[in-house]
Amino acid sequence: MSSSRYETVIGIEVHVQLNTKTKLFCACSTEFSSSDNNNICPVCTGMPGALPVMNKKVIELASRTGLALNCRINQNSQFSRKNYFYPDSPKAYQISQYDLPICEEGYLDVRQTDGSVKRIGITRAHIEEDAGKSSHHGTYSLINFNRTCVPLLEIVSEPDMRSPSEAAEYVRTLRSVVQYLGVCDGNLEEGSMRADCNVSIRPKGQEDFGTKVELKNINSFRFIEKAIAYEVSRQTDLYDNGDQDQIVQETRLYDADKNKTYSMRTKEDAHDYRYFPEPDLMNLVVPDEMLSVLKAKQVELAFDKAERFKLEYGITEQDALLLVQQREMAEYFEEVAIKTKEPKLSANWISTELMRVLKELKIDIKDFSVSAQDLSDLLVLLSAKKINAKIAKLVFEEMISTGKPAKDIVEAKGLVQDDDPNSVAKFIDQVIESNPEQVEQYRSGKEKVFNFFLGQTMRLSKGKANPDLVSELLKEKLSK
Ligand code: ADP
Ligand code: ZN
Ligand code: MG
Repeated sequence: MSSSRYETVIGIEVHVQLNTKTKLFCACSTEFSSSDNNNICPVCTGMPGALPVMNKKVIELASRTGLALNCRINQNSQFSRKNYFYPDSPKAYQISQYDLPICEEGYLDVRQTDGSVKRIGITRAHIEEDAGKSSHHGTYSLINFNRTCVPLLEIVSEPDMRSPSEAAEYVRTLRSVVQYLGVCDGNLEEGSMRADCNVSIRPKGQEDFGTKVELKNINSFRFIEKAIAYEVSRQTDLYDNGDQDQIVQETRLYDADKNKTYSMRTKEDAHDYRYFPEPDLMNLVVPDEMLSVLKAKQVELAFDKAERFKLEYGITEQDALLLVQQREMAEYFEEVAIKTKEPKLSANWISTELMRVLKELKIDIKDFSVSAQDLSDLLVLLSAKKINAKIAKLVFEEMISTGKPAKDIVEAKGLVQDDDPNSVAKFIDQVIESNPEQVEQYRSGKEKVFNFFLGQTMRLSKGKANPDLVSELLKEKLSK
């Protein structure tokens, strides 16, 4: 196999479920329901004569996403019928946008794992309705229409990606955008965001793209990379054997257990769908005023936030990128940084202690009981040297388990740092006195024993002695 002779080309279509209370063209709830067919009505089950009515919220969410993806928002867009016969599509057509999508010609800057930034073109983003879900039970099949007519935004990229990892980073960045905007929860595993990856290869230096294959059914970032890698190696083998004409335009499914893709169906061309303008809906108009309001309300996205955190708060790139992964976490950090006026200490604490605790408790920052204010109070005690770092960690644990403020815990347990040289000296004298052998060792040049003294003194003070002071006085006394 000589994969280096070929270049990989990837373009991705992502379906994002827009976060609305009701469906795209009717008043049915979009909420997940454990019983089948209870969020349905004549419109979303395609009863003859039922008419679709546009959900205004969808226009807002789609436009905000388009703006974040640097797209032109077409102030006049159009719905079309995409005709196909399938049990999960009760009307035998899907209402989608074809000729005139709501968003066009944007881009997304994607930070690669090596730190470089690659700009991926966004061809278009269009609104469409989701289909129902069929389930098969031996001799019969059932159909659940709860999902029909749920609003989706399909975001189509240019074929700009060149490796599986670029593809995964693109989808990760896109997920971050929709989560920051709050237009979608971005859950790949649960299907509120679905990525179809189009993959082809071409001999290096060849200008024309090779025939592409569409990979569907990929529900994790790890699988995006694995499915594409498998597909590239499959196509490479065919090229190497001179069988490249066996690469056909088709939809393939990824089987995660076998780490293979297999053919599902050969792909229809657009003309097979007999697209035509939807006669029951007027053109979609996004008024100027609405667009300027939305533009003014746009949120700061993760990448910009990380850059600002670095500049404004002087925190490291690594911390900044970690903190902005989740919008709620970034906001929590910023509040603590401002309240404590100690941004570096705050970044440090949140990216280590706090994140460790969340991981242990398996909870999200949204559900964490210690508020930004509570943590700030603790860190202020630490930075004012009222308590030392070790005690601060203990107090933090205590705050989580009891819900009490840091100050109360420190007072009740008498944990205030001991800064009194006389009292610290007493502990040191005691340690020196009861360990003559180690004193001998230290004085004859074995400097490592110093840590032993440090540890013993801290222990004797029940962790409360100021460690810097202990270190200073110990050096003095031991060298006597
Ligand atoms: P289709 O008509 O099959 O839906 P499109 O031209 O609409 O194809 O493209 C769908 C997706 O496939 C887009 O994301 C696009 O960037 C990508 N794509 C198009 N051609 C190729 C190719 N040769 N290799 C990889 N991806 C491609
Ligand atoms: Zn309905
Ligand atoms: Mg297409």
